[in-house]
Formats: sequence, C-alpha cells, structure tokens
Amino acid sequence: MATLIECDSLSYRYEQSSVWAVKDVSFTVDEGDYICVVGENGSGKSTLIRMVIGLIKPMGGGIAFKGIGHNEIGYLPQQAPVQSDFPASVMEVVLTGRLNKKGFLPFLGKSDAMAAEANLERLGALGLRRRAYRELSGGQRQRVLLARALCASEKLLVLDEPVTGLDPLAQSEMYRIIRELNEGGLTVLMVSHDVAGAVRAAGRILHMDTEALFFGNTDRYLLSEPGRGFLSGVAPRDIPPGAPHGADADITKDAHPKREGTSDV
Ligand code: ADP
Ligand code: MG
Repeated sequence: MATLIECDSLSYRYEQSSVWAVKDVSFTVDEGDYICVVGENGSGKSTLIRMVIGLIKPMGGGIAFKGIGHNEIGYLPQQAPVQSDFPASVMEVVLTGRLNKKGFLPFLGKSDAMAAEANLERLGALGLRRRAYRELSGGQRQRVLLARALCASEKLLVLDEPVTGLDPLAQSEMYRIIRELNEGGLTVLMVSHDVAGAVRAAGRILHMDTEALFFGNTDRYLLSEPGRGFLSGVAPRDIPPGAPHGADADITKDAHPKREGTSDV
C-alpha cells in the first residue's frame, strides 16, 4: 500500500511554554488507512494534527508528502470554524471547502455548487442545503462540516474529535458515515478521545502522550500496555475482537517498528 504521508520525529512547543506539546512523534499514513489518534486531554493530539495539515510548522523532525499534496487534505477541526451563530446557509458553509481547491482568485462557480451538493447528498444531508447552519443540530452540523471537508479532498480526511459533544445516536451515525467513506477508498486520520469507539472503528491506533506511546494495528494495540491501560474500565463487550479492515490485514508490515517495539515492553 502506498504511503501518503511520512512523519518523522515531529516535535512542537508553543510559544511561552516550557514543555513540549508534541515530542519525537513518528508515524505514516498509508493509502486506505483508518488511523485513530487517541490519548488524554492535552496529550498533543490536536497539535500533531495541525502540523500534519500544515497549520503550524514542526520545530523538530519533518513531514514528507508522498502520494498527496498539502492541499489535498480535507480537514474537520476540533472546534467548528463556523461560529454557531454564524448566519450562513448550509450551502455556503459547504462551499467554503471549495476555496481550498482554488488558486489566487477564489471565485466559486457552478461546478463548485455541484460538488457541494454531491457531497451533501453522499452524507444524506442534501435536504439541509437551504437551511441556516445555526439552526442545525450538532449531528447535522458535523455532517455539513464533513461535506465541506470532502469538497476539499477526495483522498485524505483529517478529523479532530468529530463525535465529541454529539448524542449517542448522532455519534454512531458519524462513525458509520466515516467508515463508509473509508470503505469507499478515502484515507482517514481521526482524533478521538472516545477510545472504545476509536478501537471499534480504526485499523491502526496512534496513542499520544506528548510522545507516541504506541503506533500500530488495532488488534496489537488492544494487547499492548498502553492499550490495556487506557482501555481498563471499558467493558470487554465494547471492544471488537480485531480490527475490521485496512492496514491491519498485514501485520508483518510495520510502518514504525522501533517505536511499536518499545511500546511492547
Ligand atoms: P489534545 O488535542 O490532545 O487535547 P493539544 O494538542 O490541544 O492536546 O495540547 C497539547 C499541549 O499543548 C497542552 O499542554 C496544551 O495546553 C498546549 N496547547 C495547546 N494549544 C496551545 C496554544 N495555542 N498555546 C499554548 N499552549 C497550547
Ligand atoms: Mg484536541
């Protein structure tokens, strides 16, 4: 499977902070991956994601974009970029995802509207297109923002806590949609602190604690020390017997054997 992004020893420290937010984190994103980044609050998940999508520049290490360009990433940030009282229509919000595709002059035309509608339809949200964004429920908003991210990329979706704050039904709907997009060929890199949901969904897990405590296949994560520690308190029936699809099919392939090896001791 082709590698899309290779992150090597990424480190970041915020200005006026004496401690690293992210330290020496290495992992790869391969085509077709469904990677979940898990970890406690403040463990550096969002900072890592911001480096991957180019919002902030790593202070150490590097990122190699291989089968993908910087601007071919669809991003759903942790906090919605559109304020909840922002008086935009759903179509306008989705269309802002197309700006990413434009060069110097961001004029949006008919093909942009068609792409926006197609992505809303794909997510079962076309009926919302004339509604005001601020009138939508949390789950509907996340669908609209997901449609917006899809307008920016058909290759890689980066999602920061897409189900946080949603009610359980909307959460499982979101997971279902993301799973279907992944099965349709879209690569997914998702942050979640719903670790039980994450292991149910993802093929590979990156467990952050400023450094990477684990990076590898979900089934191996469940047996690893960080995985067992983090999942204690989660009932066994909540955990799937193994990872469903993606990179985990090939357990001999290890994108970062050194780090995973150290996590097993
Ligand atoms: P997570 O997403 O896992 O909750 P973050 O990446 O948001 O973690 O934060 C990692 C660390 O960096 C935390 O200690 C947090 O307080 C700090 N941090 C995050 N954003 C900023 C910021 N804009 N300025 C200063 N410190 C920050
Ligand atoms: Mg975060």
